[in-house]
Amino acid sequence: MSRIAYVNGRYLPFRDAKVHVEDRGYQFADAVYEVCEVRAGRLIDERRHLDRLKRSLGALSIPPPMSRAALSVVLHEVVARNRMAHGNVYLQISRGVARRDLPFPPDVAPNVVVTARALNRARIEALAAQGITVISVPDNRWGRVDIKTVGLLPNVLARQNALDKGARDAWFVDQKGFVTEAASANAWIVMADGKLITRHTDHAILGGITRAVVFDVVKAQGLRIEERPFSLEEAYRAREAFITSATQIVMPVVRLDNYPIGDGKPGPIATALRRQFHRFAEGG
Ligand code: PLP
Repeated sequence: MSRIAYVNGRYLPFRDAKVHVEDRGYQFADAVYEVCEVRAGRLIDERRHLDRLKRSLGALSIPPPMSRAALSVVLHEVVARNRMAHGNVYLQISRGVARRDLPFPPDVAPNVVVTARALNRARIEALAAQGITVISVPDNRWGRVDIKTVGLLPNVLARQNALDKGARDAWFVDQKGFVTEAASANAWIVMADGKLITRHTDHAILGGITRAVVFDVVKAQGLRIEERPFSLEEAYRAREAFITSATQIVMPVVRLDNYPIGDGKPGPIATALRRQFHRFAEGG
């Protein structure tokens, strides 16, 4: 079956899904996006993703292109038209098309694109059972990565650097030696005493929706949690490490740079959080 994408009011075959060359997302990364997990045909945590989208649009003064209800209809329609059970739905909103010039153009309509992609759940589960290896890289991103913009070049280079070195992902480290987050996920460690540590949300990380749901899981399990920056050295000595994102949920990290984390296998806390996640996520 051919894939269907939504572009500015129309549902189109994938090959016809196009925006203009002077789209400001294309030229300046002047665009925001969201990625929502689809599970058994249902959107997971749609409400929180749409809340974050509203914040991102507001931060860039991009006017909402349509009502929240209309956007929700489009997201569900794209999932339905692609007959997708498991995967994710991607939504991108750019400031619009205008003559190439830095200032906000007057009177342009935002461009809205929605695509859906099926994912092989068995493969992701196999990866989670094995855990992933990660390298650390300097965090050279701009100062507002809390806004979910499509300006992801440092993330692209970090992920490629990881793959080139035989690892699966990269953790960004700030100038003080603290881990900020992963290339497309939030970073967590479990200390020797069982306490979970993840960086507090500020302008230096994206406030992950999965991160927020994992907080609920952690509290329900009676685990202790601390939101603060953690250093690379602390991470090397951690009992467990993992990352969280809408596409990977809770993914155990078993090696960081040259150091095995814990016994080099996915830890019991990460594994339990992964198993419990969808009981706490909306729509799960
Ligand atoms: N941090 C970054 C840089 C990301 O790109 C993502 C997701 O794409 C996340 C964190 C996790 O966010 P979420 O849990 O909402 O998917």
